[in-house]
Amino acid sequence: MSDIEMITQALDAIPDPAGKGGLIASGRAAAPRLADGRAGLILDVAGLSVAQRDALGADIEARLKQLDGVNEVRIAMTSARTQRMLVAIASGKGGVGKSTVSTNLAIALKRLGLKTGLVDADIYGPSQPRLTDTEGKRPVAEGQKLVAVDTPFGVPLLSMGHLVKPGQAIAWRGPMAGNALGQLIDAEWGDANVLIADMPPGTGDVQLSMVQKHKPIGAVIVSTPQDLALIDATRAIDLFRTSDVPIIGIIENMSGYACPHCGEISDPFGSGGAEAAAKEMGVPFLGRIPLAMDIRAASDAGQPPAAGNGPHAAAFMSIAEQLAAWIRTHGG
Ligand code: ADP
Repeated sequence: MSDIEMITQALDAIPDPAGKGGLIASGRAAAPRLADGRAGLILDVAGLSVAQRDALGADIEARLKQLDGVNEVRIAMTSARTQRMLVAIASGKGGVGKSTVSTNLAIALKRLGLKTGLVDADIYGPSQPRLTDTEGKRPVAEGQKLVAVDTPFGVPLLSMGHLVKPGQAIAWRGPMAGNALGQLIDAEWGDANVLIADMPPGTGDVQLSMVQKHKPIGAVIVSTPQDLALIDATRAIDLFRTSDVPIIGIIENMSGYACPHCGEISDPFGSGGAEAAAKEMGVPFLGRIPLAMDIRAASDAGQPPAAGNGPHAAAFMSIAEQLAAWIRTHGG
């Protein structure tokens, strides 16, 4: 057997993490070579999470080093497709402000210079059309693909709410829900390469298959300070961890009550619960957003605070800065 055949065989014995046979058969690894004890190859990492990419690189190196005559392994990682980076915004239960946080973070990231889109993956209770003042807009189709709708904030958006009549119940189950979600994500997003996904609340099968199929590069968990929401948040964290999706951090929403008259923050339900829980779980704490009447009123009116320069914009911008730094470091 020639050196190249030996390396090719070893590579093809490693399963493709995306589940399509060995690395050579799937086309993921190419151009194997060996010269002066140095094995080299090109590895297409499109569609793999950072954790999968790292694990695969380590696996290849370990296996090739076992071969006779291989002292060193060089892997050139490439990404054939433009990589779209999905960031999941999730919560263990509904009503904690996950959608509100998603809208504002998408807008804040855009303000920080990231090419950002927003996908309303909360297909059972799509609220992004209202939050972004795009109710009644209809996405057009280009070939087989939906084209994201423009919002007044420069962030393209796709939501099931744009495809069904307002108030119409969406009662899809498993595979249909999964297909609908796939169409929203694999759409025409223009130059947006960061997609903020407002996930359906909870930790059921729809969430799990979405995470496994669309492989977010990371997840942000939104929780309120109360214990119950935190227990649910822990479940959401587990869902991502079992799928090898890194947790970017936790946001504590509705943290303290901002007095509409003087702005002073008081804590009727306690605060700091999410921060303490984050510390305990070894997950970064990204910041808190107060419970404020004007956040609710502005959101309901389709005017997300992060698009303006009011006091709450700063809270969202500060969290978005940490998120942007994470995406720049960990994104593909
Ligand atoms: P979820 O997506 O988790 O179900 P939403 O984002 O729809 O939650 O928020 C639920 C309700 O709480 C909405 O009426 C929203 O305007 C309100 N809300 C969310 N965050 C805040 C906040 N920080 N201050 C005041 N109201 C908020």
